[in-house]
Amino acid sequence: MELPSDRYASQVVDVLRDLVRIDTTNPPGNETPAGDYLAKLLLPAGVETEVIESAPGRGNLIARLRGDGSEPPLLLMGHLDVVSANPAEWRYPPFAAEIHEGFLWGRGTTDMKNMVAASAVVLLALAEAGPRLGRDVLFLATADEEHGGRLGIGWLARERPELFRVACALNEGGGETVRAGERTYWTCQTAEKGVCRTVWTAHGPGGHAARPRADIATAALSKAVASLGDGHLTPRVTRTMATALGIMAADISTDAEEAVSAHLASGRVEEALRAVGFDETAAERARALFYDTVSVTGLRSGDPESINVIAPTAVAYADGRLLPGQTDRDLLAAIRQRTGDDLEVEVYRQQYSPGLESSSDHPIFRVISDVIAERCDGARVIPWMTAGSTDAKHLVPAGVPVYGFVPVPPLTEGLKGADSHAVDERLWLEGLPFTLRVLYDVVYRFCHI
Ligand SMILES: [Zn+2]
Repeated sequence: MELPSDRYASQVVDVLRDLVRIDTTNPPGNETPAGDYLAKLLLPAGVETEVIESAPGRGNLIARLRGDGSEPPLLLMGHLDVVSANPAEWRYPPFAAEIHEGFLWGRGTTDMKNMVAASAVVLLALAEAGPRLGRDVLFLATADEEHGGRLGIGWLARERPELFRVACALNEGGGETVRAGERTYWTCQTAEKGVCRTVWTAHGPGGHAARPRADIATAALSKAVASLGDGHLTPRVTRTMATALGIMAADISTDAEEAVSAHLASGRVEEALRAVGFDETAAERARALFYDTVSVTGLRSGDPESINVIAPTAVAYADGRLLPGQTDRDLLAAIRQRTGDDLEVEVYRQQYSPGLESSSDHPIFRVISDVIAERCDGARVIPWMTAGSTDAKHLVPAGVPVYGFVPVPPLTEGLKGADSHAVDERLWLEGLPFTLRVLYDVVYRFCHI
């Protein structure tokens, strides 16, 4: 279904530029002006809007285009806050939304004010087109995602639980292309890894550095850290990744399908990735989606001012990422299995949240697949996982299926983008109308009668 007018394709650029110029660096966030801006944009078109603060300055937009209520709403979720940017490091100022070399430069252009702008313009376009909607389209543009979402969607989930009686949510993540051999697939993010941060403490005899021994704390801790190797623990195959690799293998041959399924059943993840056609770089990137992982990010023992003293304790801080279905206890056990019993290993300051998985057997996944197939030469959509973490953690455990789908076409050969959170974050402008049109099409098809 096409947008009712071409002017929306230029309006989405304007809205995105306006949003980038509203500095919502978190902390402190200060998302209220961005929420107010969107409310002012949507209200005249007949969209119900409300901006509600969880704390001073921490605004959350609730916008609703009414359907007849025969089906539960579709939720479009997006976060208004961004991570910090140091202007001295940037080629162009991070909050000026300048256009150079075919890109819109600025913090939030890809994470995720692009999707927030597209969602707002989809509501405007739907309001104009006026199709009969069998469900509400609910748009939440919220605060605080970059710091865990407790003042954004997490707060709304507690204070306004009625908002989340929805069919499903469309979220950030996904909508990217994955290359396997000569074939290109589009991802829809159905799973996220969990987080479990840990602290390890080794104890040993302290004393004078002139009398060394093998059993001191720093030596015990070093051995434990080395035991992690590359930080990938035991391989496990989730439903999401099994389905994804199954689809890719089936496109090659029945033999490939059988080989991949045999590799996965025996935990030979790297072989399975090669068998579906991943090159070395892509396979290396995808590996973390099959393992619980641990990265030691901090070490502490002794004091350089007392370099002649053997410290009695040594401490490591390790960031763990869990596959859906794994728990903090599983991770602690896996770490202890490697490091031995001489070390204390504990969860660090309760920083644990489990992984998430939503079923790809959902009507929204089929709608997304149909839209991509029609617009991209029959290309297929595969369920996918992110090794990172989003606001989905506040909704999936409460029973809301969440799908990450921000359709962004691959850059044309020779162009170079920049990752989310990176210096010089920038959005390829030619791709933005595609994002808008695909999103409009998905929302229209899922909601109209
Ligand atoms: Zn984000």
